Amino acid sequence: MFLIYIFDLLYSEKLRIRMKKLPLYLKIIIGLLLGILWAVLSSYLGWSEFTNNFIAPFGTIFINLLKLIAVPLVLFSIINGVAGIGSSSSLGRMGGKTLLAYLLTTVLAVGMGLSIVNIIKPGSLIDENTRIDNRISYEIWALENDQEIKDGVSYMSDPANKERVDRIKLQLQNQSTDEKVASKMKDAEKTKNSGPLQPLVDLVPSNLFKALSNNGLMLQIIFFAIFFGVSLLLIPEEKSEPVKKIVDGIMDVFLKMVDLVMQAAPFFVFALLAGVISKMAGDDLDKVSDIFQGLSWYTLTVFLGLMFMIFVVYPLILKILVKVIPYKGFFKAMGLAQTTAFSTSSSAATLPVTLECVEDNLGVDKKITSFVLPIGATVNMDGTCLYQAVAVVFLAQLHMIDLTFGQQLTIVVTATLASIGSAAVPSAGLVMLIIVLGSVGLNPAWIAIIFPVDRILDMCRTVVNVTGDATVSSIIAKGEGLLHYDPNKNPDDAFDPNVN
Ligand code: ASP
Repeated sequence: MFLIYIFDLLYSEKLRIRMKKLPLYLKIIIGLLLGILWAVLSSYLGWSEFTNNFIAPFGTIFINLLKLIAVPLVLFSIINGVAGIGSSSSLGRMGGKTLLAYLLTTVLAVGMGLSIVNIIKPGSLIDENTRIDNRISYEIWALENDQEIKDGVSYMSDPANKERVDRIKLQLQNQSTDEKVASKMKDAEKTKNSGPLQPLVDLVPSNLFKALSNNGLMLQIIFFAIFFGVSLLLIPEEKSEPVKKIVDGIMDVFLKMVDLVMQAAPFFVFALLAGVISKMAGDDLDKVSDIFQGLSWYTLTVFLGLMFMIFVVYPLILKILVKVIPYKGFFKAMGLAQTTAFSTSSSAATLPVTLECVEDNLGVDKKITSFVLPIGATVNMDGTCLYQAVAVVFLAQLHMIDLTFGQQLTIVVTATLASIGSAAVPSAGLVMLIIVLGSVGLNPAWIAIIFPVDRILDMCRTVVNVTGDATVSSIIAKGEGLLHYDPNKNPDDAFDPNVN
């Protein structure tokens, strides 16, 4: 009876008309919720294998499609942007402003993360006994790895703790490292072992096609595109004009591809969420609630910090510096990019959607978006660095370590640099966290503690990353007189394949 009712409902004309009228971002949110519901149901009914084999692959297809568009789009978009700016001096001015704005929002986000974690102190809310055990295991690790214990306290040498120390030593000997965590540590080791100028060397590709074929090399593509664009400005106009027209045309084709993909986004997002959660839970739903219970204060702290950035900090910056974009209007314009960021966990995959939202809905001129957004998607990760700050201090609190002011300052610097260096893909921030932990003398293997909740937090921090890019684009556009916000615009028109 119930099934017949659902069937009737799904096929009723009324519902179809109503669904058609719904804005696309709401349809995506419905897809997202249905995905979660499906994962819960399938875990409850023991259908996880079916979900993983027959539903989750559509989520992967969605991410692949977006990335397929994103990589060449970055190339053509930046060439187009640089050529549109018109001269290398205006490019230099705008480039400087963009990098400065990105740097400022990043430092602000780390500061926000540090403040919130020092106020809530999520790590200190765990029971004292566990924390003393943790502290002792940290001291053992520090001794073995020649790390200085900066707060000068030693629980290990306290005779009252002798039995505890012996027990923990035994436990540590029998502990094996999680495979996934070990592979992340290996990735971080590669980054850490390179020389100080290695990032600069990595910026310059020796082979463009290699850079294009490898998703992680976005900075190299950006470098080539700027180089190409500047050179395009320097050749005679009769030669550069046809190239510019071709680049502009190709970009339009890619953007049309985004519109087509986005028509099926609600379904793709359903598949993506169903897959992600079902992989986490398997056929045992209690596992997920156990994971979250243990880390609930930490999760809550990161979540609060991220929400504060989205709903308070960015709108405030926009109100002060941009003025013309109202609070609700900003979210209406960016809704699609934000929901896509949440479901894909990748700012790079979301970039095509962000470009259209910022250009068509916020009214930021193409000259700005095509240059500022691809760079932002790669180097500006406010959510990631906020999370890194919270995570490091939380882990320190969990091990009864009082970080000095100097150490907290080191976190600001390394988290900022790490967020610049993070690739715009799922869990990249977690790898960089290993380096931030190392910079303040803490054990990088602790990422294993927060690993279980990383994917969900990754989804949230990617929304912040994308929202930060949009905010900075609006500020730069306003400063250049290139912001044409129209409050009456229907945000879905940007993704209607029949609207130019
Ligand atoms: N997933 C994030 C992004 O793509 C990066 C991270 O924080 O792991 O923006």
